[in-house]
Amino acid sequence: MHSIAHLLRPDIAALESYTPVAPIEVLAARLGLPIERIIKLDANESPYGASPRALAALAAVGGQPNHGGAALQYGDPSVVAIYPDPNHTLLREQLSRYTGQPAERIICSSGSGELIDLVMRVLLQPGDTIIDCPPTFGMYGFDAGIHGAKVIEVPRDQAFAIDIEGVAEATEQHGAKMIFVTLPNNPTGNLITHAEIERLLELPLLVIVDEAYVEFAGVSVVDMIGRYPNLAVLRTFSKWAGLAGLRIGYGLFHEELIQHLWKIKQPYNINVAAQAAALGSLEDVDYLMDKARIIVAERERIYARLQSLPGLHVYPSQANFLLCRVLAGDAKALKDELMRRGILVRYFNKPGLSDCIRFSIGTPEQNDVLLAALEETVGVTVRAV
Ligand SMILES: *Cc1c(COP(=O)(O)O)cnc(C)c1O
Repeated sequence: MHSIAHLLRPDIAALESYTPVAPIEVLAARLGLPIERIIKLDANESPYGASPRALAALAAVGGQPNHGGAALQYGDPSVVAIYPDPNHTLLREQLSRYTGQPAERIICSSGSGELIDLVMRVLLQPGDTIIDCPPTFGMYGFDAGIHGAKVIEVPRDQAFAIDIEGVAEATEQHGAKMIFVTLPNNPTGNLITHAEIERLLELPLLVIVDEAYVEFAGVSVVDMIGRYPNLAVLRTFSKWAGLAGLRIGYGLFHEELIQHLWKIKQPYNINVAAQAAALGSLEDVDYLMDKARIIVAERERIYARLQSLPGLHVYPSQANFLLCRVLAGDAKALKDELMRRGILVRYFNKPGLSDCIRFSIGTPEQNDVLLAALEETVGVTVRAV
């Protein structure tokens, strides 16, 4: 018997495991609650789920190819017996209409997470550096570790704005190759201006703008792709389109970079069901944007209500979630109490996010339950202090 310890890449052996959130079935069982009583506001998923046309497209997936003795319909995107289109031709055509960018600048991925990894594979060698601006999405720093890259942190200021001059200095000092800018930022919900992005684009590094929540914010830098070879935009169907479980995203890149991404992408990275559901969603943009507008209106309603709650500081947000700092009492205890009531929220205890919780905007009914619970529990915590 041989141990494989001496065969492992030392950097991977030393890497800390990523801790995903417990699945909802497991949590429901642990809480002793039926699953339909759980209000899941911890991962910014859509409370409305997939659109009707996406669900219809999914239902059609897997139709029997040989029924009635007919031959396989090779062109039918719903036939599961055939490998999916590695070029995502239909989907990229529709995404071109949706984004206003030529299909040649678009590449699709198994969630936008896959593109974070692909971009790093194209640019990073072990020992290279990337710039991360915490507090922000954790995957950038995590993925950089997998590639043996160093992460230089340039923290955001009190209002969570990016320290542009700090980034410029760090880029020069470390020869950083890329920076991730989340628009709007997760978990803080704030935007970055076009002028600030243009300033970052003057630096000699790739600027990757992660627009996972762009449908809730209504601002995008996608129109700038053609003018800046060092700009990339990542998008996803996980949030606004309610397809987080199917893993489907896309990116927009200048011609100079996208050719290299095509070379290294796994050919069949997107399955037939995900392509069909994404196409269905793009036929249902009006429906989905109506839901996005409801979510935005709800976000503003909750924001206003929570401002009158002295134990919480709620930050303004342009996304489908709100970040709150717990001023009186313990944020972890608040998260646990909400969980006991079947409401799942995200708790942070990281630099810049001490005593913070983040919750996604649910349906109006779910939000009412959350508001009542916050008004009850935060009030209690204040009195107990
Ligand atoms: C949720 C989220 C994503 C989505 O990732 P997928 O892999 O497409 O599900 C990407 N970026 C940020 C900042 C997110 O919050």
